[in-house]
Amino acid sequence: MKKVAFYTLGCKLNFSETSTIARGFEEKGYSKVPFSDTPDIFIINTCSVTENADKKCKKIVKEAQKINPDGYVAIIGCYAQLKPREISEIQGVDAVLGAAEKFRLLELLDGFVKTPEAKVLASEVKEAKAFNNAYSINDRTRTFLKVQDGCNYHCAFCTIPLARGKSRSDSIENIIKSAHEIAATDVKEVVLTGVNIGDFGIVNGKREERFVDLVKAIDKVDGIERIRISSIEPNLLTNEIIQYTSDSNRFVPHFHIPLQSGNNKILRVMRRRYLRELYEDRVNKIKQLMPDCCIGVDVIVGFPGETHDDFLETYNFLNELPISYLHVFTYSERANTTAAEMGDAVPMKERQERSKMLRILSEKKRRQFYESQLGTTRTVLFEDDIDNGMMHGFTENYVRVSAKYDPLLINELKEVTLLSINENGTVDVEEPEMVFEKH
Ligand code: SF4
Repeated sequence: MKKVAFYTLGCKLNFSETSTIARGFEEKGYSKVPFSDTPDIFIINTCSVTENADKKCKKIVKEAQKINPDGYVAIIGCYAQLKPREISEIQGVDAVLGAAEKFRLLELLDGFVKTPEAKVLASEVKEAKAFNNAYSINDRTRTFLKVQDGCNYHCAFCTIPLARGKSRSDSIENIIKSAHEIAATDVKEVVLTGVNIGDFGIVNGKREERFVDLVKAIDKVDGIERIRISSIEPNLLTNEIIQYTSDSNRFVPHFHIPLQSGNNKILRVMRRRYLRELYEDRVNKIKQLMPDCCIGVDVIVGFPGETHDDFLETYNFLNELPISYLHVFTYSERANTTAAEMGDAVPMKERQERSKMLRILSEKKRRQFYESQLGTTRTVLFEDDIDNGMMHGFTENYVRVSAKYDPLLINELKEVTLLSINENGTVDVEEPEMVFEKH
């Protein structure tokens, strides 16, 4: 039996896709093993957003060669779509597959026989029209269910549309089928995942369905205790979605909403499709209906033309908003994006200083949010981890809690009272009581 191992870089979408590709290998009789277990085949799923994607890719290929010099190395993912030729020249790479080819890996690389030159099977991204459904089942606590792929927006800094193609989606009917399969497993939480999930519903280039209808349909699937939306553009997060999720018992009070800048001039040059006023309105609407809702924010610092005052406007905007944490990205130039051609670059040292300021603000916001939750009773989904005799989990509203390790708690939903913030920045809880049984 041939052994295959996977390495995934990047986002939840990549993880769900690796997991689905791995299941395809297992169905064909391959044995999935850890990377270090001398596999015959190594599949590396890359990301174009990762800093130094090329160096990371080279490092993993080198590692694979060290583990098994005769192993077959195939590279897939966003970086493979963007730079297939460069990757094929990396010593040790046997094949590079693009966005339209990666799900046909087994068929296209029949037998995984090494050839003197690396095979490059990467069509132009406009060929990536098919939607390939995927969900992860590596972690039995939660699954990332891919419902949408690609993006029709043209944000000036972003390479994702170049790597993943146009917006396209699965049908609600198919997604509900996958949701029933997931419901039949031990998994308790489903994270709806996509590139631009609010744009859900485009099939063969035509809008057929709406995200809010998917939300309503999946909410009715018995056997899934929690549903989380991974990230949604503010202009697509409608009142109807906010209202429905706030009334739902399964959708959790947690949103992740990219902002990118709190300055309207920068938002316009970034080609984002909203202004700060709309963002503020979305956050306030959520908090009005769900005062304990956790709100995460993506923000980019050091975009071309961002002056110190522009940055301070972003800082003050975020400081005033009732948000719970930030994911801070330091802007870096990406080939083939309009932002890379803009000039007016912010010096790297300045970008790093702005990034540091926002990371400190993020910690302050997270702490304030956690403090606001102390004394409340929440439901925690405990994970399969152990660290110094402690285990962890997240409440429905995304507070990370710690409890004394107990294997019986793994993958269980427990009602707990949040007591205090500990030195690791997580929240200690009192003895958990079981509240849900999977049905
Ligand atoms: S919405 Fe903008 S940032 Fe997000 S994937 Fe599409 S182009 Fe990229």
